[in-house]
Amino acid sequence: MAYITFKEVSKNYTNGEVAVSATQQVSFEIEKGEFVVILGPSGAGKTTVLNLLGGMDTTSSGKITVDNQEISNFSKKKLTDYRRNDVGFVFQFYNLVPNLTALENIELGAEISNNPLSATEMLNKVGLGERLQSFPGQLSGGEQQRVAIARALTKNPRLLLCDEPTGALDSKTGKNVMMVLKEVANQLGHTLIMVTHNPEFAKSADKVIHMQNGRIKKIDIVENPLHLE
Ligand code: ADP
Ligand code: ADP
Repeated sequence: MAYITFKEVSKNYTNGEVAVSATQQVSFEIEKGEFVVILGPSGAGKTTVLNLLGGMDTTSSGKITVDNQEISNFSKKKLTDYRRNDVGFVFQFYNLVPNLTALENIELGAEISNNPLSATEMLNKVGLGERLQSFPGQLSGGEQQRVAIARALTKNPRLLLCDEPTGALDSKTGKNVMMVLKEVANQLGHTLIMVTHNPEFAKSADKVIHMQNGRIKKIDIVENPLHLE
């Protein structure tokens, strides 16, 4: 069985009286250590897939497994445990706490995990070892996102889920952040799943899941992933 499986996963929301189907019968498989990009227009259901996989939301129907565990069947408590220990999240807008230093922000990640890695070591890994005591407002956008990546990694998660992690950065900085992400995920053996609009990042993935209107349009296996430099 693949490391991650989605089997006919649907998620419906109600917006007032109106039913919205955010994903419909979504099925795919992801292997351990893969770098997977989810592409598609706004409203396609990409964030919903990440949230379901990260245990931030629950399915309406269908089955999700991670490492042979059926997370779509987890109790609330088990799902909270899974979200805290097994999943690292990186968002478009960093979500750092402004009055805590880079190091303190990263330690927040460590505090909620049962099996944390060293915050200083993770800051070194993302190339910010010199900026331990800087506050988010003293760091550039690229640096803030690298702090957010270090925070996600400090939990020592099995999955690293990223929603438009370079969406707020200029293209050069975005590429740099992307290289850091790929390198550390690779080093630590993490499975990296990313929603992005950048076709160049999609070319550097092992697998690209194309979504449209809540459905999978196609899945590309990339034979020779582009090496970003
Ligand atoms: P994407 O990430 O591809 O832009 P989303 O997964 O955010 O797409 O959204 C898919 C659809 O589900 C959209 O039509 C969106 O409006 C709807 N949706 C997402 N989350 C909610 C929610 N919490 N409540 C109501 N509708 C939602
Ligand atoms: P990056 O490529 O990592 O985004 P930049 O080239 O934008 O970095 O920034 C270089 C330096 O300038 C950084 O070390 C940072 O400390 C400082 N800097 C950049 N933008 C800001 C900002 N908005 N506020 C404070 N310092 C900044």
